[in-house]
Amino acid sequence: MHAIHSFHAHIYFDPLATRATAEAVRDGIAGLFAVRLGRWHDVPVGPHPQPMYQVAFLPALFASFVPWLMLHRRGLTVLIHPNTGAPRDDHLLHAFWMGAILPLKGAVLPIQEDVAVMETAVNTQLSTPRF
Ligand code: ZN
Repeated sequence: MHAIHSFHAHIYFDPLATRATAEAVRDGIAGLFAVRLGRWHDVPVGPHPQPMYQVAFLPALFASFVPWLMLHRRGLTVLIHPNTGAPRDDHLLHAFWMGAILPLKGAVLPIQEDVAVMETAVNTQLSTPRF
C-alpha cells in the first residue's frame, strides 16, 4: 500500500532554446498555485536527462494544477510523479509524461526512502486559476 504524500512536476527545457518559455510557465505557476518551486537546474541532475526545475505540490492541488499545466506547458516536456517513499517506482512506474517520454536514469534512484513531509509554501499572490 503506497500513500501519495505529494507530487512533483518536473518541467524540462533546453537552456539554449526554451529557457524563456520555461520562465513564462514558472511565472504562471507562481501566480496561481500554492506550490513549492524548486531551483533551476541548467544541467542534468539525478535521474533527469535534461535541464529542468521541479514543482512540488500536495495531492489536494492535483485536480486544479495538473489540468492547468496541460493547457499552459507551452510545448515543454513535463514529468508528473507521486512521492510514496519508493522513488524508483514513483519515477519509472507510477509517473506520467506530457509531450514526450524522456529516458530517466532510474538506477540512481533509491528503491525506498523515508517520505519527507512537504511544507506548504506559498509563492506570491495567488488568484483563481484560469483554464
Ligand atoms: Zn521529483
